[in-house]
Amino acid sequence: MKLTILKALTICLLLITGSAFAQKLTKTENQILRTVSANNSEAIAYLKQVVNINSGTMNPKGVKEVGMVFKSAYDDIAFQTSWIDMTKVNRAGHLFAEINGDKGKKLLLIGHLDTVFEADSPFQEFTMVNDSIAHAPGGNDMKGGNVIILYALKALSDNGLLGNAQIIVAYTGDEESTGKPLTVSRKDLIEAAKRSDIALGFETSTGFNYATIARRGASGWKVEVAGKRAHSSGIFNDKNGAGAVFELARILNEFYNNVRGEEYLTFNPGVILGGTKISFEEALSTGNAFGKSNVIAQTAVVDGGLRFISEGQKERAREKMRAIVSNNLPHTSAEISFIDSYPAMGPTEGNNNLLELLNQVSLDLDQGGVEAYDPGKRGAADVSFVAQYVDCLDGLGTMGSGAHTPQETVNLNTIEALTKRTAILIYRLINQ
Ligand SMILES: [Zn+2]
Repeated sequence: MKLTILKALTICLLLITGSAFAQKLTKTENQILRTVSANNSEAIAYLKQVVNINSGTMNPKGVKEVGMVFKSAYDDIAFQTSWIDMTKVNRAGHLFAEINGDKGKKLLLIGHLDTVFEADSPFQEFTMVNDSIAHAPGGNDMKGGNVIILYALKALSDNGLLGNAQIIVAYTGDEESTGKPLTVSRKDLIEAAKRSDIALGFETSTGFNYATIARRGASGWKVEVAGKRAHSSGIFNDKNGAGAVFELARILNEFYNNVRGEEYLTFNPGVILGGTKISFEEALSTGNAFGKSNVIAQTAVVDGGLRFISEGQKERAREKMRAIVSNNLPHTSAEISFIDSYPAMGPTEGNNNLLELLNQVSLDLDQGGVEAYDPGKRGAADVSFVAQYVDCLDGLGTMGSGAHTPQETVNLNTIEALTKRTAILIYRLINQ
């Protein structure tokens, strides 16, 4: 409901802006654009360099190596850099780079060093498909976005325009598979947000004309069912009841019929086991089941995921699920448990105002207007962890296709334009 109103508001704002006299680029802004253009081939070579270092989340050495390449680039433009070790949560660590000041908006710029392609993946190398498209593991998700942040800041630095601004660049090393507990692995990111006004996320772009002002959150859920083991000839009678498998089937069917329905709410049972004896290895999402057609099932389990647009929606869904799970068939019992993973990033007014600023920048650059992307089509990301502390905009990274698959590509032709847009957006924010 709230979203629908905000969507309408966005469209109104876009219409008003579209018809208003467009803000001209200043002399300084034109100088920033020239610097971005001059550095563009260097930016692409840099992207190739970092793509060719494997940084699968579970390859800590590689993640840190990519972090060190970025570290020296940020050292060169006089950012204070630090490597935050995350060995204690079995991950490589995060690279943070920052400058301190009190001019304009305080910014947090978010990227991640890791990719889904581990050291044993056959997909390791940056190769050109044609003049503009590179086939590159993590090139789009999201080493391209990391490079956009760096070269936008470099253009501002080269022109002496970062003086007295406060900017924190946070490149996490475990976005694709976060270290647990999150209170450890996301502590530094959240603390950086608390010192900032605005967070910009550089996850893959969904096109020049869209940015992300809302992302759905994610949670895990698991239902464990117990039934009475007995000869199957007695199933349904007063003594033996329905068995664990029927009970779990009832629960899932009622989830489907009675929890489903709200916009942006989805839930998916990913793996199910049932029978006389089961073993479920949660960490590996795998297991074994043993049962016989002439024995009433004694145990069953299902493990699933849940996506939601707000904490309220998450809680409503959980309440309905709990009620269904407690309404057991004869001689069965069931329990549901939930695990929080990503919070939701709601479509707030502050996020919308940021979108409006980006829209103006984009119009001034003749790159067309920018609208809010459908949050139902995006997964969760690091920006979600800071959404409750700062205004957020995400999806400012590179364009490409096939993220998380061996077909991943990045469109190199869009990097210059996107870096220009980012540089002007940052420039205007730190001068606000
Ligand atoms: Zn990503």
